[in-house]
Amino acid sequence: MAKHIQSVRGMNDILPDETSRWQFLEANIRRLLAAYGYSEIRLPVVEKTELFKRSIGEVTDIVEKEMYTFEDRNGDSLTLRPEGTAGCVRAAIENGLLHNQVHRLWYMGPMFRHERPQKGRYRQFHQVGVEVFGMAGPDIDAELILMSARLWKCMGLADDVSLQINSLGSTASRAAYREKLVEYFTANKEQLDEDSLRRLQSNPLRILDSKNPAMQALNEAAPKLINYLDDESKAHFDCLLAILDATGLSYEINPRLVRGLDYYGKTVFEWVTDKLGAQGTICAGGRFDALVEQLGSKPVPAIGFAMGLERLSSLLDEAIIPQQDYSPHAYLVLVGEAAQTLGMPLAEELRDLIPNLRLQVHCGGGSFKSQLKRADKSGAPLALIVAEEEAEKGMVSVKYLREKTEQLSCPKADLIKLLTEYIKY
Ligand code: ATP
Ligand code: MG
Repeated sequence: MAKHIQSVRGMNDILPDETSRWQFLEANIRRLLAAYGYSEIRLPVVEKTELFKRSIGEVTDIVEKEMYTFEDRNGDSLTLRPEGTAGCVRAAIENGLLHNQVHRLWYMGPMFRHERPQKGRYRQFHQVGVEVFGMAGPDIDAELILMSARLWKCMGLADDVSLQINSLGSTASRAAYREKLVEYFTANKEQLDEDSLRRLQSNPLRILDSKNPAMQALNEAAPKLINYLDDESKAHFDCLLAILDATGLSYEINPRLVRGLDYYGKTVFEWVTDKLGAQGTICAGGRFDALVEQLGSKPVPAIGFAMGLERLSSLLDEAIIPQQDYSPHAYLVLVGEAAQTLGMPLAEELRDLIPNLRLQVHCGGGSFKSQLKRADKSGAPLALIVAEEEAEKGMVSVKYLREKTEQLSCPKADLIKLLTEYIKY
């Protein structure tokens, strides 16, 4: 036998018995986003590499080491999208969505990052992303946060997650802060790990984002950006907090929350849980007012977030997922050649006349006994049987598989009545 070809490491199949969990998650998210007035946008999975380099930032984990980049047949450098914001902004600019307009958008789909696969961290994973364009105030920041909070509530997760929030200020205030930070880390250079040493020159804020436990104490004692905010960013942040306070949502201000991507400014936030070990962030976002301009358009304020569906899915309590029953109402057993010819047209006719009917037709022949076994396994409560005798007489037998009702034989017209009545319950 030929050797099995396996899936790519970190890229998983989602099998039929897991899909009801995913459908539940996706349906809840879609419903909620629609209720807040957000529209879906569908974007390509592949973009030009340059788009991610220019938006996410050259000195970030994603661009430095996680992108799936390849040359296509024309020699262009393309990348499987590691996140959705860059593509969404690209599409909004390209399709003229940003001129004197506001947009509340969302997308859902796979993202790709070459990371070390482990629980909650995969190379193909799925995100729902939300991006809003054309609104500069803290009210929309609050709306995004409140919308995500409601989502956790809808899915019974409110007690499992908590909100961390911070402000990264304006570009100018980050520049002033950056100097202080470089001073501080330079004075403590001997404590920096290899990654942080490299970032000291290129992107010192990202040192604060380090996941290395050995760096924690040093990072905790570092100067805090929140103390260097410019007046406008400070007012924006205070107003956001006031709205959140007024709605009674609790949060923690985390001065070390800088996010891993370069395009953020002002508000940033993360929803975290302690139920998933090290991979505890289920949703992360922030304001990126500079990105649209950075990608070549007139500046437009923007904010968004993305949530990781694998992490959310593993938080869901099995008990709240409705067990959707897709098992058929009836299984059509066809014994003998004549019956086999009659089977498909009969099934199609029943489907025409009873649109809600879930009917599975036995394919592949076999004995009556083996077909009944399949009928039983399908979960259907009824077996509709056409064997030689029925085929000859133009009848169909109905066998009740899960109750003690006598088998009966009836003409097609009666069968239609019987099924129509039966599926009402
Ligand atoms: P982390 O710090 O866990 O690496 P990140 O900051 O790289 O996360 P974002 O780019 O903000 O993550 O992505 C938003 C969300 O997408 C994350 O909070 C997480 O839930 C999910 N996510 C990110 N990378 C992965 C991955 N490799 N596998 C599964 N989910 C992921
Ligand atoms: Mg990451």
